[in-house]
Amino acid sequence: MKAHDGMYIGGEWRAAAGTDTIAVVNPADEQVIAHVPAGVAEDVDAAVFAAHEAFPAWAATPPAERAARIAALRDVLVARKDEIAETVTAELGAPLQFSQMVHAGVPILVAGSYAELAASYAFEEKVGNSTVYAEPVGVVGAITPWNYPLHQIVAKVAPALAAGCTVVLKPAEDTPLTAQLFAEAVHEAGIPAGVFNLVTGLGPVAGQALAEHPGVDLVSFTGSTAVGKQIGATAGAAVKRVALELGGKSANVILPSADLAKAVGVGIANVMGNSGQTCSAWTRMLVHTSQYDEAVALAAEAAAKYGDRIGPLVNAKQHTRVRGYIEKGVAEGARLVAGGPEAPREQGYFVSPTVFADVTPEMAIAQEEIFGPVVSIIRYEDEGDALRIANGTVYGLAGAVWAGDDAEAVAFARRMDTGQVDINGGRFNPRAPFGGYKQSGVGRELGAHGLSEYLQTKSLQF
Ligand code: NAD
Repeated sequence: MKAHDGMYIGGEWRAAAGTDTIAVVNPADEQVIAHVPAGVAEDVDAAVFAAHEAFPAWAATPPAERAARIAALRDVLVARKDEIAETVTAELGAPLQFSQMVHAGVPILVAGSYAELAASYAFEEKVGNSTVYAEPVGVVGAITPWNYPLHQIVAKVAPALAAGCTVVLKPAEDTPLTAQLFAEAVHEAGIPAGVFNLVTGLGPVAGQALAEHPGVDLVSFTGSTAVGKQIGATAGAAVKRVALELGGKSANVILPSADLAKAVGVGIANVMGNSGQTCSAWTRMLVHTSQYDEAVALAAEAAAKYGDRIGPLVNAKQHTRVRGYIEKGVAEGARLVAGGPEAPREQGYFVSPTVFADVTPEMAIAQEEIFGPVVSIIRYEDEGDALRIANGTVYGLAGAVWAGDDAEAVAFARRMDTGQVDINGGRFNPRAPFGGYKQSGVGRELGAHGLSEYLQTKSLQF
């Protein structure tokens, strides 16, 4: 596949400082499809310098003009939608239809929503005898994971640009080609040189150099909780703004009054989409004891139907890790009702859609983020029990509640320690803030809340 052999810095593709490269592998057939440069501290320095140079002019650009550039970026993403979908499929392995709908489609909605928000946001407000200004924080270091290669980038870059910040992006090493395509789109959209910069490379090298760079005013990170804690500690020591979007172990709570078949069917689909590599996936299904056996049968049937329709996991490490969790579930005494640890194909990092019954809340498969196509069905006795189980992990990112009517589901959802809950199968809203309670993170992405992460306030008194 086509790949750039340099970094996008200061509006141009520049030669990398080092000579090392990263091989990009198609996880469906394990073939190397491209190489990209492995950035080092000098590349990060150059990119942060370019972002600093560009900052004053971009921050002073009227919001309506910033909005127009983000709208132009959205239009390029629309025009290049097929190419984006093919690239995500090649480096992540997602089925092409899923890439078109979700991986290429959702970033278009998010970019569009920030084009609108940049134009309408109240960057200046009168409060009594004061004027309060919302000003950009400065240079943003964005570090993104591979699970939604373009969405994760757009969910950071679009609000940062809307706010008037400039950005240096270090994308995941598994999916750098989508990031390079995004840099091309930024260029095509006429976003001024240095406003967005891209350094590909390894997390502990380029990522860490960016997170620790004194010229970065805000670090926005999405990825594992372990790395997030490290980045949070570094930012804390430097008294630097930080936004962390970390893991999850979200509960799909099915109350007895719900449409059981629908709740189970949508619940399984929610996890199997993207092969379970979704931080907000509803990986714990909570079912009342009176409906437990029926739910298990429905879930096993739904998962089996997924069969060949899900893509592989992103890499060999995740393939080993996820199958290790399935083995652990069996060893802990959970009952396998679909799938299992055996790789279903000889080539590619595939895992069968897997469902566990008789999972108890303290098992590792009910507590830890597996990041694969694995659902744990847990039994509850009454609503209090369901709430205790739902809230009984270190995470609090997302979730779902199903009931006979929305009011009953809302009453339960309001007691959940989690940042986003779908009520009776609610639809995705690109303007709804997304982010974690507890160890799922700090800060919010999407919508006006996502924009405010990139702003700081100044008040003038008269
Ligand atoms: P990771 O946290 O290692 O990688 C995420 C990003 O951080 C990548 O760009 C990586 O290069 C970078 N990074 C890694 N080490 C760094 C460091 N020391 N300093 C700065 N940046 C660094 O995640 P992973 O290894 O790709 O995945 C492991 C697990 O993380 C998954 O199994 C899953 O549980 C979780 N995860 C969560 C999300 C999410 O959306 N919240 C996304 C991907 C992975």
